[in-house]
Amino acid sequence: MERQAKIYVAGHRGLVGSSIVRKLQAEGFTNLLLRTRAELDLTRQADVEAFFSAERPDYVFLAAAKVGGILANDTYGGDFIRDNLLIQTHVMEAARQTGVRKLLFLGSSCIYPKFAPQPMPEDCLLTGALEPTNEPYAVAKIAGLTLAKAYRKQYGFNVISLMPTNLYGPGDNFDLSASHVLAALLRKFHEAKVTQSPTVTVWGTGTPRREFLHVDDLADAALFLMRCYESSDLINVGVGEDISIAELAAVIRDVVGYQGDIVYDLSKPDGTPRKLLDVSRLHALGWRARIPLREGIAATYAWYCANHGR
Ligand code: GDP
Repeated sequence: MERQAKIYVAGHRGLVGSSIVRKLQAEGFTNLLLRTRAELDLTRQADVEAFFSAERPDYVFLAAAKVGGILANDTYGGDFIRDNLLIQTHVMEAARQTGVRKLLFLGSSCIYPKFAPQPMPEDCLLTGALEPTNEPYAVAKIAGLTLAKAYRKQYGFNVISLMPTNLYGPGDNFDLSASHVLAALLRKFHEAKVTQSPTVTVWGTGTPRREFLHVDDLADAALFLMRCYESSDLINVGVGEDISIAELAAVIRDVVGYQGDIVYDLSKPDGTPRKLLDVSRLHALGWRARIPLREGIAATYAWYCANHGR
């Protein structure tokens, strides 16, 4: 990727897209193509085609997607499968038709079976049933990476598919009805501290295990793989370690400086019992995550206080 290349970052206002933009800018890429949702609705095929025909980007980071935490996925499954199928199909097809040199597609660790071996290697895809709370989203993402693979095979379209683990960082969604666990708990502990509430409620049993990758590490991996990875094989992007939700809550309580107690709401779903990616393929290429969890949480909390905190 030359510094003058025209690079379209789809979804540049989101957690992932905004981090990729910061990383590209820090590395001296100046010709970035960015469109807000109001300017370009990626669920509308004609608009996407017109945009690609007019702008003809060289490279595309497809970070636009409808995403959300366990409750949002469980409640609005129809929106999650529809919007993601439309966005990824329109963008990949328009990119292929207009001669984009390389496209990076982002999946998710929830594409793997609910009871996959842990850590989950890339080749456990489609070996078992999915976790029901996010099945519509996962099926859309599986369709996207299958589309990518089939486009490479049939048309020689240069597309790679990354499977990031659970992400967090500045720019995350802190809306409690839609957020993922880490952002939700940061907000809950912060608000409990401010209002001097005696307890904070954590959903589920606290026993599920998740892996958390700082989004700036993901952006670093995305640029790394955009430069060096040329394969239709998926590649997992994670840190290679997980932690229980109860342990995560304890770290966040500590970072926020909250003194009260934690209670568990057993009426809320646990979701999949464990989600840890096997990152040996990525490590073999020479890339490793660098931001330690506690440090990343502290930085995200500082960002939250500066942007949302009261
Ligand atoms: P998942 O990885 O797809 O299950 O998505 P989430 O990040 O939303 O949830 C991860 C785990 O954290 C699940 O077991 C949730 O029940 C649990 N959890 C605990 N408290 C919360 C909360 O306040 N919000 C969310 N989203 N999850 C929570």
